[in-house]
Amino acid sequence: MHQKTIRKPVQCSGIGLHSGRKVELTLSPAAPDTGIVFAVRHGDAWRHITPGPHNVSDTGLATTLSDGDARLSTVEHLLAAIRGLGIDNIHIRVCGVEVPIMDGSAASFVFLLRSAGLVEQPAVRRFLKVTRPMALTRDGKSVRVTPYDGFAVDYSIDFKHPLIGRQDMSLDITPDSFVRRLAKARTFGFLRDVERMQRAGLALGGSLDNAVVLDEYGVVNPEGLRFKDEFVRHKILDFVGDMAVAPLPLLGRFEINCSGHALNNEFLRYVLDNAVTCLDTVAAPAPAAPHQVPASAPAGVGETALAS
Ligand SMILES: [Zn+2]
Repeated sequence: MHQKTIRKPVQCSGIGLHSGRKVELTLSPAAPDTGIVFAVRHGDAWRHITPGPHNVSDTGLATTLSDGDARLSTVEHLLAAIRGLGIDNIHIRVCGVEVPIMDGSAASFVFLLRSAGLVEQPAVRRFLKVTRPMALTRDGKSVRVTPYDGFAVDYSIDFKHPLIGRQDMSLDITPDSFVRRLAKARTFGFLRDVERMQRAGLALGGSLDNAVVLDEYGVVNPEGLRFKDEFVRHKILDFVGDMAVAPLPLLGRFEINCSGHALNNEFLRYVLDNAVTCLDTVAAPAPAAPHQVPASAPAGVGETALAS
């Protein structure tokens, strides 16, 4: 299992969720062991921001990364697409203070990354392997992880809204399951909150083009939902993005109950800060030789337990 980057630079532009202004984004190949590196304009210079759990400076409207006085917002869906596709090394240049929101999902970034093409690099992939169970609970929300030789998520949400209610999903996250089950799930919000934020000059780029908006009874968007359980799918997408600020991909099984960006980040810091005792950086387990795989081998958890 080797590290991956993209084959060639690709660009897109879109609207910033905060500002409502046009933002340009360029993704470029990076050398082995580079990781994910953002470059943002700061005055006349370019400043680099390397994602890390301790430079997540805001999780309110969107996830913001900071390094000194360089800041970049709304990174979560792009990071989810990068990690979801198994890309290890990439340069991201943003002409603006936020990554464009696109359609509120990771689908546009998946399309962009796949159109660049993925290439394997000579270096072996590395992971952070969780070696003992850890859990964190705050105000009835919780995240728990147990050792697992993959990245699996069991996620539950419970919103007091007739269209959402309780939704659960279990998924072994691979590039294939990420693209098919998660990437198209859009962020969502409530009409009363959107109106309140926009009156306060916030979320100026937010619209029905980049979020599922709910009133008291249902979905305001005329096109409706992309999946019946689009809400929990998007929460898992966000979780993939929130864990993608770790310096390396994580190996573990995560059980999440009603968490959000803030608790996800606190949990990640808790796990990584105990890395000496609870995490090892390891090479991925070698894939089984084809003749060792029984013909009736089950698919991953998400493939068997859930329908789209
Ligand atoms: Zn999101």
